[in-house]
Amino acid sequence: MKYPHSIEKLLKHLQKLPGVGKRTAERFAFDLLARKDEGHLDELASALRLVKEEICECQQCGAFTDTVNCYFCTDTTRRRDLLCVVASPKDVFTIEGTREYRGLYHVLHGLLSPLDGRGEEILQFSKLLARIQADNIKEIIIALDSTLEGDATALFLKDQLATYDVQVSRLAFGIPVGSSLEYVDGGTLARALVGRASF
Ligand SMILES: [Zn+2]
Repeated sequence: MKYPHSIEKLLKHLQKLPGVGKRTAERFAFDLLARKDEGHLDELASALRLVKEEICECQQCGAFTDTVNCYFCTDTTRRRDLLCVVASPKDVFTIEGTREYRGLYHVLHGLLSPLDGRGEEILQFSKLLARIQADNIKEIIIALDSTLEGDATALFLKDQLATYDVQVSRLAFGIPVGSSLEYVDGGTLARALVGRASF
């Protein structure tokens, strides 16, 4: 089955989004087309144009912002000697959603992955080292994924930061809130045991 050229093109772009396969892309495309007359397509197109034009990386921390320095970096009520290191701009908002963190951020824009050719040079890592000295950073929280790439990057950071007078910690690993022990996988339980905290 062949769709008209413009629909095929739209489907191709929609399928580049994470978690969107052919069927979901088709559903999105036909839903958008069904509401074409309501101005929905125009609004979506203008929203896409707006984020392209207005969103940039904060010069300090690398978070997404529509001003030169982001909302977090300009918030004077935050601790300025504490950095939370995350992999992506979205992670900043995830950590922020916990309402438990009141320091600044540093976005690496990726994780180490030798297989994909991602080494330290393409991460915003030298910028992190420069910030530690320039901003007199005292503490760094590594908030990276619990994956091979996340672990490799966290270890790399730990090694590199060892020579700096800065306290380094990583997010704790443990049992998900609301879950029973019998349903927790062995790897998670083992990490929770090793990383147990006093109570
Ligand atoms: Zn910032």
